[in-house]
Amino acid sequence: MQLKVHESLQGLKPYKSFDERSDVRLNTNENPYQIPDAVLEDMGKAVQEALKTINRYPQDNQDELKDELVKYLAKRENIKLKKDNILLGNGSNEIFALIFEAFGGGQCITFSPSYSMYPHYCLDSVTELVVIPRDPDQDFEIDTNLALRSIRLRGEREDLHIVLLTQPNNPTGNFADREQVIKILDQAKIEKALVVIDEAYAEFRNDDDEASLDLISKYDNLIVVRTLSKAFSLAGARVGYAIAQPKVIDILKLVRLPYNLSALTQAVAITALKHSDEMLKNVEEIKQRRDSLSTWLKEQKMGTKNLQVIPSSANFIQVGTSRMPSFPKKAHDYLLKNHSIEIRQVGPEGFFRVTIGTEEEMDKFKSAFSEFLKTVK
Ligand code: PMP
Repeated sequence: MQLKVHESLQGLKPYKSFDERSDVRLNTNENPYQIPDAVLEDMGKAVQEALKTINRYPQDNQDELKDELVKYLAKRENIKLKKDNILLGNGSNEIFALIFEAFGGGQCITFSPSYSMYPHYCLDSVTELVVIPRDPDQDFEIDTNLALRSIRLRGEREDLHIVLLTQPNNPTGNFADREQVIKILDQAKIEKALVVIDEAYAEFRNDDDEASLDLISKYDNLIVVRTLSKAFSLAGARVGYAIAQPKVIDILKLVRLPYNLSALTQAVAITALKHSDEMLKNVEEIKQRRDSLSTWLKEQKMGTKNLQVIPSSANFIQVGTSRMPSFPKKAHDYLLKNHSIEIRQVGPEGFFRVTIGTEEEMDKFKSAFSEFLKTVK
């Protein structure tokens, strides 16, 4: 029997996660460190406690978790928020699905290359994806004039709903400066479009990169999305959140399903945020390792030529060469087959992305990668 599948989904294949379970997993941008033992112990106790009432539905207003997030963001980002500025989700993936469900339709502008799930959110919400290319000659920075013109034209002549900006960007790692962000927000506001800033990797940003949480109070067309999956070492727990003005959050609440975070997830996340300093204690070390890997990569040669290494504000680096489209596949297959190291073939032609792992993992990557470079003609 041929079931009546939604027209926009006919003939499509489901999303495949890049979960190869190789020995050295440098492909999904997680924090390579496990949670510190003392925090694990507290999490265990919190989960035990939550289990005692697991016969009941979980707290649906998620007040305690929101309180902890407010405290965490005040401490780390020096930003004053209230609980009604926050919406929690089962990973930031759920947050995006809700944003597109509530605000999608029309068009969504993204700056490509960018996160591979954005086209899925558009598809699922029947939103037309408009891809504005980043400038390959400027390390994939956003071309401000092109961005503003595209927002204006789509706004005036068509039906622009969302502008989606990734800070730092995945997979390129770069971070648009404050001036650019403000210009995009202002132009989008004229066109009555929402700007969504995906800050999944914000905790890894460099000291001079300005995150956008402080702009929430000024812009009623802004949502900032964050996650505990990356710097917080909690990818397996699935906790993401949106920050926006209360009236924007209220719209998202219209599409959120009840009880979207289990009592166990809430217990884990509350404990993690109470221990945020310990949970994030490796972030500086990862950033330093990223910078030294970047320096090392710039010194490597393929034949007589250097590789292009994109400056990163995240816990990964994009590297490659537009001269050789087959470079990422060759590197990926060589590292996986010979050394059980998994990198990610994603982004512009000729480039791959490598996540910053532990010191030992980076040593393995460097030795395997320099071996690989000698094999490339
Ligand atoms: N945004 C970006 C840019 C990402 O790279 C990811 C994960 N790879 C996510 C959002 C989703 O993360 P999660 O659902 O685990 O919060």
